[in-house]
Amino acid sequence: MQNQIMKDVKKLLEFYQALGFEGLPINPPSPPFSKGGQGGFEKEGQGGIKEADLKSLREEIGDCKGCRLSKGRTNIVFGEGNPDTRLMFIGEAPGKKEDLQARPFVGDAGMVLTRLIEKMGFKRGDVYIANIVKCRPPMNRDPELDEIERCRGFVERQIEIINPKVIMTLGRISAQTLIGNAKLKITAIRGNFFDYKGIALMPTFHPAYLIRNPKDKWLTWGDAQKVMEKLKSKG
Ligand code: SF4
Repeated sequence: MQNQIMKDVKKLLEFYQALGFEGLPINPPSPPFSKGGQGGFEKEGQGGIKEADLKSLREEIGDCKGCRLSKGRTNIVFGEGNPDTRLMFIGEAPGKKEDLQARPFVGDAGMVLTRLIEKMGFKRGDVYIANIVKCRPPMNRDPELDEIERCRGFVERQIEIINPKVIMTLGRISAQTLIGNAKLKITAIRGNFFDYKGIALMPTFHPAYLIRNPKDKWLTWGDAQKVMEKLKSKG
């Protein structure tokens, strides 16, 4: 019995270590969401319509050349996930691997994001993941304001179609864009809910930042816990 407990504790420690934590959180995650199984979302029966609307939007984007980012891209990275989800993650722009695979968050930062999603009690396919701009900026620089302005309509339409209960923005640029204030500092706003057209928006750090600053994973986990509470709440 005691051996089994020790084995379980060891496993748990290894799990948190794999996430980059140096110890156990004081408040371990409460059981995730009741409906739809372990961490899943109960289908609202609109998934088919939403999926079709997203497909139409993707067709509309086509081979978009709306800004200079079209010149260096391999693929447009539209976004992926459960169209019927209550939780969206929005980053700023695709990186090299994302550009090659036409999928959001599949590189090292994507691994950190996937771990966070799983730690929240979901599978990656339960949520929807997208970026503010759909094409990779050269040398992974930040997207520029005019590029964001050209592209933001697409992610706004994705949000409108999916209509999640909560959006978690990843990093400064996605928070500034959706909140509508280019002066906001991520360190000042993360961890606080904002309103985006009636949807709760929680800014948190970008996973790439967390790779460089693993000690701040605790802060992101705190933000994620607030999101989990919000998802469970009726309001
Ligand atoms: S970043 Fe957006 S607006 Fe610019 S080319 Fe790509 S899809 Fe079009």
